[in-house]
Amino acid sequence: MLALSELMNTHMWRAAAHSGRWTAVNQLIRTHSDMAEFREVFSKARHIAIITGAGVSAESGIPSIRGAEGRWRTWKTQDLATPQCFSRHTSRVWEFYHYRRELALRARASAAHRAIAECEERLRRQKRSLVVITQNIDELHRRAGSTRLLEVHGNVFQTRCLSCGNVEANHRSPICPSLQGKGSPDPGVPDALIPVRDLPRCEQKACDGLLRPHVVWFGETLDSHILTKVEKELETCDLCLVVGTAAVVYPAAMFGPQVASRGVPVAEFNTRPTVNTPRYRFHFSGRCADTLPVALAPHESED
Ligand SMILES: [Zn+2]
Repeated sequence: MLALSELMNTHMWRAAAHSGRWTAVNQLIRTHSDMAEFREVFSKARHIAIITGAGVSAESGIPSIRGAEGRWRTWKTQDLATPQCFSRHTSRVWEFYHYRRELALRARASAAHRAIAECEERLRRQKRSLVVITQNIDELHRRAGSTRLLEVHGNVFQTRCLSCGNVEANHRSPICPSLQGKGSPDPGVPDALIPVRDLPRCEQKACDGLLRPHVVWFGETLDSHILTKVEKELETCDLCLVVGTAAVVYPAAMFGPQVASRGVPVAEFNTRPTVNTPRYRFHFSGRCADTLPVALAPHESED
């Protein structure tokens, strides 16, 4: 669903409306995108913010929690990712997250993850900065080498204790013995119905509380400390890239438009235009594993 009122004002839209085909909109937006112009802006930017979403992880074989792929067994994955489901069906939700953890452990960072991490390292040597603000929970940015990383939806390799609140990193595979061999997404596989006492438990002294994945579930609010850091980056960046996100999850969907409203150039990299595309200066259609390495390669003006 495109913002028609905004598109109507553009020459691009009138041409597409005349042809009467949405593919024409796509084509014209892509034609409108000018990589040489983007590269010029990129070469002058001092503080770059890159907002990433499920599209970047999809290229590493990690399915989105939303959309047609968003199913695990017979359930919609967004129905599993809720505090209500965790309290009613704790074993099932842990099976699901065990599956997501094992998938992420086996996945490899894509060319897009690597291009972002290499660019951060290069710019740091030039006293320029790059920060990644991601909705992804799979840690693939970190594994690719990104160090300035704000994970707004948490991280599947961290746990939080429901009793003492302790948060810690946990990369064990499996996370506990009872989940060994469990978590198959096959619709024919029954729930393992693991007793709660055998699910991941806190190892803080004398605690033994139930652990949950340290991720933000549907219906939960984002960590205010992380959001404050995100706000600061969005207010100070002089170039913003929005990569592989369909712009439907709030508040992340508004990060790019917020930067654009300051008059700062925003470049969208996605397989197709989104509702936010008309607000941005650049749009590059295609797989971000193809487009980002070109966009973020060393510019001739760099040392
Ligand atoms: Zn605890």
